[in-house]
Amino acid sequence: MSVFDHPEFDQHESLHFVQDPESGLKAIIAIHSTALGPAAGGCRRWQYANDDDALTDALRLSRGMTYKNAVAGLKFGGGKSVILAADNAPKSAQLFHAFGRQIEALGGRYITAEDVGCSVEDMRLVKEQTNYVSGLPKSGDSAGGDPSPHTALGVFLGIQSALKAKSGNDSLDGVRVAVQGVGHVGLHLCRMLHEAGATLVVSDVNGNNIKLASDELPVTVVAPAELLYSDVDVLAPCALGNILTSQTIPSIKAKIIAGAANNQLATDDDGKRLAEHDILYAPDYVINAGGIINVAHEYYGDGSEENVRADIARIPERLDAIFAEALKTGRPTNAIADELARRLVSGQVLQERRSA
Ligand code: NAD
Repeated sequence: MSVFDHPEFDQHESLHFVQDPESGLKAIIAIHSTALGPAAGGCRRWQYANDDDALTDALRLSRGMTYKNAVAGLKFGGGKSVILAADNAPKSAQLFHAFGRQIEALGGRYITAEDVGCSVEDMRLVKEQTNYVSGLPKSGDSAGGDPSPHTALGVFLGIQSALKAKSGNDSLDGVRVAVQGVGHVGLHLCRMLHEAGATLVVSDVNGNNIKLASDELPVTVVAPAELLYSDVDVLAPCALGNILTSQTIPSIKAKIIAGAANNQLATDDDGKRLAEHDILYAPDYVINAGGIINVAHEYYGDGSEENVRADIARIPERLDAIFAEALKTGRPTNAIADELARRLVSGQVLQERRSA
């Protein structure tokens, strides 16, 4: 496996391959950048087909966190960890304790939280070994707990922003939305969309999650293979990444793609491809920052629920600016967001603001 020449390596500051035979822990901790603060990003636990896939996921997710945290204005750099789950092995306290010790050994360069496959309870176990963890059980009105309702709120507001940019009207009444994945974020998002009058089409590879969604909400369930091509106004990917590709994009009917999943575009060129198909794409790391905003307030101990919600309410203004520039220049939205993120990380934006 090539590491430094890996196409996604992108000048990562450090990569840590860690294992603990006793607990069965095998993980990769990727630290992309600490330029704006300690590298922060969740821990994903997933059964990867092979180590290469796990490395690619860690690298792409980690760089995405650098961009996400920068654009959200957080005092965080970017990093991510992936735990390689083996053959449906169950999670255990020993596993998360061993993971916590590895985080502690990094001395605060990386701060973890939950992502796909991990829960608040798992982070509580990590906390028994290190303070460099967030997304812990909530106490009182202070920020904390499961970040996914906050992510869903940001996505909901972002969908309204995209509707306004596309049609001049942000009402969700009667708007048809296809939600891919009704897990932590997807189900919260469905509740908000339903409340606002949207019609929902959903899919999930997990039958229990589909049952939970369809028992609670009036949803049309379609097979996972069909969801992307639903006849809807908005597609909200809330499962895994790499779904917008040269193969899938030509058959997508939705004219807006706005969802929580990280790394929705398989390649940067797919952002261009979406623009060519007149599909407005809300850059994933801009629209899905609600969770990390909550994590940041929790970690720095400087926020109530109200502060968190006020910060999340600023996600649409960032999207509005990106959509407006895309309309003016014809550039793809992902390219505009990436350029902004890189300028923020390099300190260029700060310098320009100081000399203005
Ligand atoms: P989750 O694991 O709770 O939910 C994901 C759901 O997608 C699961 O129900 C899973 O069965 C389903 N799924 C997987 N593959 C699928 C497929 N091919 N078709 C349909 N469904 C499929 O995860 P989550 O916390 O809800 O996160 C969802 C996405 O949002 C992930 O990409 C995550 O990285 C991203 N994200 C989450 C947060 C957060 O706060 N949880 C924050 C930012 C980004």
